[in-house]
Amino acid sequence: MPDELIEIEEARRLVLERASPLAAEPVPLRDALGRVLAVEVGAADPVPGFDNSAMDGFAVRAADTASAPVTLQVVDESRAGRPAERAVRAGEAILISTGAMVPEGADSVVRVEDTSSRDGSVEVGVTVEPGGNVRRAGEDVRRGQSVIPPGTVLGAAELGVIASVGRGAAECTRRPRVYVLTTGDELHEPGEPLRPGGIRNSNAHSVPALVEASGAEVAEVETVADDPSATRSAIERALDADVVVICGGVSVGEHDHVRAALAELGVQEAFWGVALRPGKPTSFGVHDSGALMFGLPGNPVSAMVTFLLLARPAIDALLGAGTERRRATAMLDEEYAKKPGRAHAVRCRLELRDDGWHARTTGEQGSHVLTSMLGADALALIPTDSGTVPAGQRVEIELLA
Ligand code: AMP
Ligand code: MG
Repeated sequence: MPDELIEIEEARRLVLERASPLAAEPVPLRDALGRVLAVEVGAADPVPGFDNSAMDGFAVRAADTASAPVTLQVVDESRAGRPAERAVRAGEAILISTGAMVPEGADSVVRVEDTSSRDGSVEVGVTVEPGGNVRRAGEDVRRGQSVIPPGTVLGAAELGVIASVGRGAAECTRRPRVYVLTTGDELHEPGEPLRPGGIRNSNAHSVPALVEASGAEVAEVETVADDPSATRSAIERALDADVVVICGGVSVGEHDHVRAALAELGVQEAFWGVALRPGKPTSFGVHDSGALMFGLPGNPVSAMVTFLLLARPAIDALLGAGTERRRATAMLDEEYAKKPGRAHAVRCRLELRDDGWHARTTGEQGSHVLTSMLGADALALIPTDSGTVPAGQRVEIELLA
């Protein structure tokens, strides 16, 4: 009896159910770009750490400027990183730079543009309010405040904020190790002479690139011939990885040995066959070691599409990052011909217009037409039951980046 195809959203759910965040490790900030925060970052210190000047000018007592113009005695200087040694008393001012500590006794700063200096004194031409031109301690971040929640992918702003609260490292989830196995007697590396019937092993380059772009680490890329025992031992070697991605040999042909090998190695199959085009012969299971085992179709587009729709969310879940953050909708600007029966993942280019995102297909959509991935920004997900989609309809998309 043929296996029943399951819906892509159900397949995704079954995968996510089995993927939970890996352990945390401290990562120095310089290495943390793109890593996922495991533990919230709290501020040990407030930012700014002290009241400081927003302007170059003079630190004064606001009350002294009430009857401006007024002449004050300049008694010291406060520079960035070098506070004044004296306090400001009535009738006095202290020369101050932007970011420098507001001296004791002063409650405000007069901008240099509103003053004129001569012989150790300064004439203040304006009245300032208490607190004027002063940045208060804790205005940006209060002491003890949580600044970045767990699950955040660390970008430039996050790294800057973590540094600003005085932390040189961040607790991040370990990057999943992904073992990529390509299968097929016909596969040749680029640069090797092609034997008759041979093809280039493109999956051995596109899939590891997807692994890295997803924030995981490539443990190994291996190619195995269409032979049952070679397939089994190659998969066995991969079992200490967090994720194993096997491309090709997953289907029901005479020379497809992956399903049997997985069963012999005790992999608990969660599904085999998805109602998706491209990507029908896709399987997923879990080995006792905890390794998440993906069997992806060998067709180069199918391998990329199923990786993006199933393996990448699994990597997100292992990283503790949100798994739905790449879902959005876009207006389809051209008709898409389809029959009900399977969901379609359509390679699209996106364009942002006044009324939101618009999508157009990248052209010919055959699962062997790898150039259909070139320039694609998203996969439009056309549901199983849907027939032809008219131009102007809003469709769900999964962003590729
Ligand atoms: P399979 O899933 O093994 O039946 O392969 C389906 C199609 O994808 C066949 O035309 C294979 O030659 C092709 N294919 C399989 N593996 C790769 C690969 N690593 N790179 C490029 N094409 C492949
Ligand atoms: Mg094959």
